[in-house]
Amino acid sequence: MVPVSRYMRWFKHLWQLAVEPSPTIADPVIRHRIRILNSILVVFIPLSTLTLLIYLLTLPSRFIGLPTTILAVLMGISVAALIYVVNHTRHYLFARYLTVGVGLLAVLANAVASQPPHLEIAYIIMLPLVSTLLFSFKDTLIICLLSVISFLGFAHMMGDIPADIFKDLLTFIMFIQVFILFLSQQRNRLETDRQKLAIEQERNTLLKKLIASISHDFRTPLTIIITNTYLLGRTTDLRQQQEKRDQIHKQALRLNQFIEDILTMSTLDQNTQIELEQADLNHLLRRLYEEFIPQAKAKNIRLELDLAPDIQSVQLNTDHFDRACNNLVQNAINYTPAGGQVIIRSMIQRDALVIECIDTGIGISPQDLPQVFTAFFRADHARSTETGGMGLGLAITRQIVEQHGGSITVESVVGRGSTFRIQLPYLQNI
Ligand code: ADP
Repeated sequence: MVPVSRYMRWFKHLWQLAVEPSPTIADPVIRHRIRILNSILVVFIPLSTLTLLIYLLTLPSRFIGLPTTILAVLMGISVAALIYVVNHTRHYLFARYLTVGVGLLAVLANAVASQPPHLEIAYIIMLPLVSTLLFSFKDTLIICLLSVISFLGFAHMMGDIPADIFKDLLTFIMFIQVFILFLSQQRNRLETDRQKLAIEQERNTLLKKLIASISHDFRTPLTIIITNTYLLGRTTDLRQQQEKRDQIHKQALRLNQFIEDILTMSTLDQNTQIELEQADLNHLLRRLYEEFIPQAKAKNIRLELDLAPDIQSVQLNTDHFDRACNNLVQNAINYTPAGGQVIIRSMIQRDALVIECIDTGIGISPQDLPQVFTAFFRADHARSTETGGMGLGLAITRQIVEQHGGSITVESVVGRGSTFRIQLPYLQNI
């Protein structure tokens, strides 16, 4: 017998397949809303099938070829098609309107096909109510208006509704729409307040981490600078003097990098909208590759470039994107021992542009992996070195990639190496 947990896993897998939005949709708020929309649609299928079954069982005189049955089957198919469209769309607003549009059409179709018409009126109320979950206040207002118009159309088609009943119904529906609009406004306000609070809390945590990191990470280079300055004044040996000066220079550069990272992080945080321009991604990666050749050679690492030849120009903020890729390659070289290999790769995968930075380095342990993109995170091995950064590099990279509408992931095996993968939305001009 198949254990229950396996059924649960199948069910979870199927649910995710239907409900999870396409990975090309990066915005977490939109992803969340698509999940809600899909869940409502998915729940709708078994519910309508069950209703149909009860309808057929309780009224045995009905048979499978009735218009209502055909209508229900057609609606099931359109719901499945809608889930597909929503999961593959780049135009989320269009997909949402399509969903509600199909809903309204279904109401009118039902109005023509069945008697008495209570269910249809419930739909006219339910649709805007559901839409408050998915749309902004302005869009909900449009849907409420559409809903009232469709009610008028429905009443016109029915033709024989007595005038006083029609008046009462219209007043009732108008009241409901006003209530729904009030609900929508309250919900949106609550959501905005919650988002603001979450951002404030995150800023607070970041600030605390920043202070802790500054006091911890600035101390090591400062101590090295102070000690070497002291020793510089004590020694007359020219070679030793040069060594001390090199040490001081190296640690000063490191402090400078810390400050630059902190500044970049704070400017990225403020400018959620960055300026984009048409850019040649392969050119950017080629330049990056050339910049890192001396460093790789000095460490005896084989640096390779593997570019897809047919990438058309894309919308990028070149400075920021260069910085994002630079962090990945710098890390790959830092964390790969001599004799290893680092590959910078670009390729096209369906509607995404993929940039990979692959290394055969020390790898990242499974417990550290989920945290590497968190600001100020550094694995223990990196913390103990005198060369690592403040743990801001990958957080900066992720922020930049997300501001380009993309996403970044990592796969890694300790002792074998890591692959960082950036995915950018990519529409090819045919
Ligand atoms: P840092 O600037 O300190 O290197 P990052 O944010 O760039 O910080 O990286 C965070 C941590 O992720 C590093 O401290 C390191 O432990 C780990 N890491 C990043 N890239 C690699 C890599 N290619 N191989 C192994 N570990 C890595």
